[in-house]
Amino acid sequence: MGEATAEQLAAKTGRARAAESDYLNQLADRGFLKKERKGREVYFQVFTLHTMCSQCGAGVPMTLDHCTMCGALLVKHKE
Ligand SMILES: [Zn+2]
Repeated sequence: MGEATAEQLAAKTGRARAAESDYLNQLADRGFLKKERKGREVYFQVFTLHTMCSQCGAGVPMTLDHCTMCGALLVKHKE
């Protein structure tokens, strides 16, 4: 996905810019997005957090519950 401003995302999702901005800021606070100010625009960078498979050592997105390489179930770290 790369990066986009709240305005660009609002245009894509059809939601109000203010609502989109709110939502993005929440995601940024929780560490799901990286927020970067460029001049007057604020860009949100979308990245996926990775974890390492304990079976094969592959990097697996934390949104998945099993390894895409070897199929092992991933142990989620509890907060
Ligand atoms: Zn694996």
